[in-house]
Amino acid sequence: MAGTLAEAHLMLQLLGESGVRGKILNQYSQGGVGDLAATEVLPEVWVYRDDDETLARKVIKSYHRVDLEKVRVCKSCGESNPTTFELCWQCSGALEE
Ligand SMILES: [Zn+2]
Repeated sequence: MAGTLAEAHLMLQLLGESGVRGKILNQYSQGGVGDLAATEVLPEVWVYRDDDETLARKVIKSYHRVDLEKVRVCKSCGESNPTTFELCWQCSGALEE
């Protein structure tokens, strides 16, 4: 499964709910502490603290059980969003069922 930016945003949200702070790196960016999921998700999601890496990997493991077939398509910009999102990650527009 090729990663998408939407999936990266979902991962970051899930990590945030678990208290892990991180950021999304595009392939041209450099830096970060934990080299996380480079082979699992593209673009890469990085965590700020090494201590968070174990927890982050657990979150990502559970993330892979999320049904990615279900998406909400933003009416404003047409971007696909995970069903858990209430706002479009791309344009911050409200997502409806
Ligand atoms: Zn949108």
